[in-house]
Amino acid sequence: MAKDELMNYEKALEMFEVVIGLEVHVELNTKTKMFCGCRNEFGDEPNTNVCPICIALPGALPAVNRTAVESSISIGLALGCEIAPNGRFARKNYFYPDLAKNFQTSQYDEPIAFNGELTVELPSGSVHTVQIERAHMEEDAGKLTHIGGSTGRIQGAEYSLVDYNRAGVPLVEIVTRPVYGAGAEAPELAAAYVRSIREIVKGLGVSDARMERGNVRCDANVSLRPHGQEKLGTRTETKNVNSLRSIERAVRYEIQRQAALLAKGTAIVQETRHWHEDKGATSAGRPKSDADDYRYFPEPDLVPVQPSKELIESLRAKLPEKPADRRKRVQAEWGFADLEFRDVVNADLLDQIEETVKAGAKPQAARKWWTGELARIANSQDKDVTELEISGAYVAELAQLVDAGKLNDRLAREVLTYVLNGEGSPAEIVAARGLEVVSDDGALIAAIDAALAKQPDVLDAIREGRMQAAGAVIGAVMQAMKGSADAGRVRELLIEKANAS
Ligand SMILES: [Zn+2]
Repeated sequence: MAKDELMNYEKALEMFEVVIGLEVHVELNTKTKMFCGCRNEFGDEPNTNVCPICIALPGALPAVNRTAVESSISIGLALGCEIAPNGRFARKNYFYPDLAKNFQTSQYDEPIAFNGELTVELPSGSVHTVQIERAHMEEDAGKLTHIGGSTGRIQGAEYSLVDYNRAGVPLVEIVTRPVYGAGAEAPELAAAYVRSIREIVKGLGVSDARMERGNVRCDANVSLRPHGQEKLGTRTETKNVNSLRSIERAVRYEIQRQAALLAKGTAIVQETRHWHEDKGATSAGRPKSDADDYRYFPEPDLVPVQPSKELIESLRAKLPEKPADRRKRVQAEWGFADLEFRDVVNADLLDQIEETVKAGAKPQAARKWWTGELARIANSQDKDVTELEISGAYVAELAQLVDAGKLNDRLAREVLTYVLNGEGSPAEIVAARGLEVVSDDGALIAAIDAALAKQPDVLDAIREGRMQAAGAVIGAVMQAMKGSADAGRVRELLIEKANAS
């Protein structure tokens, strides 16, 4: 991969205005696929959830999944869209090995939802309203796995495997209009927008919304133009970026790469690009013109989708609270300061903290565990904190054990590592490993006496007010008790002893 020349980010923004556009694919979590009765389930044995319809045997006839239509309408309504009273599916013709039909059944000029908007808040606190052009229904393709290459991509691979379990899984594609005016915060805006989409579809319960599983994927369009120029610059489309952090990085990279080319007078190639998380760079995919001709034509095997007013209104009545409203509500309920709350939102931890608080933890304790020790562990494993295998209920249990004095901070952190190793709940681990803080004064006094036998001058020092001398004894006791003593209690007992003798 040739190394791109990048312009300094600040300089790029001085020279150019950034325009972005985002296409987000949301995989719906319906029980069955979009046009057949096959199971829609991630992780099943390859090619077990297939039938003549989704592998396109001759003569097989599709039928539209009602739940998928309802989920799509709900997404449209949550984005403030109008809902089309009548919409046809179309065939988008192209060949790809994971698309057995040689066309994708999609919506073309009659999307189910259009003309919406979504207001998103950036890490800096600034607020942007993103215009939504459309949200349309389509089906996913199968999954190709390329074997033998070093990168997992087709280049250098010896052969490829295809799994059609995902072929025909319902998707909703949400397309924005060009987004202007974010300036230096365009990368953050892209990530914040996708985060909000994810919150919405999760809140609606229509998608599992797990980016690492590809339930939510983003194509990020980026173009630059000199300040004051009306005509949009040539754009690139970075495909299938699947984490919020990667979206932010990919947009920033494209800004710097395109700026360097434009400053030299080199034209931008209109193309798709791939994001490489390991290299922190994009690379060229295929050329993409605005006039890609997919020979769209109306799907003759499906009747048009015609949702009734009653159906639309009943779905509207069931919409959950908007992400912005939910944030205001939980921040007030938890009593977090603005900065604390922004950290939580930026780390994508609202759901986790809500779950932890519901399970009985104090909000501040929940916040500290998630943004502190758990974030640190995730970071050291190069993971997102939300990917850690721990539930809010377990974090709450841990916090409660600390509150009850059964664990000190050090022991709690130790218990946490065992929880993350899958050894069970915090209480089970404390019991199984005998990790509880020793609160039995008798055991502590015995350990103090043993330590004093080796450092007999310490009691005199304490009586003379030289408290730093106590540290050595407390340290020795903690070591003898393998960290399971409450240091505060050891100190109290030591002072009592000094004053009594
Ligand atoms: Zn099927």
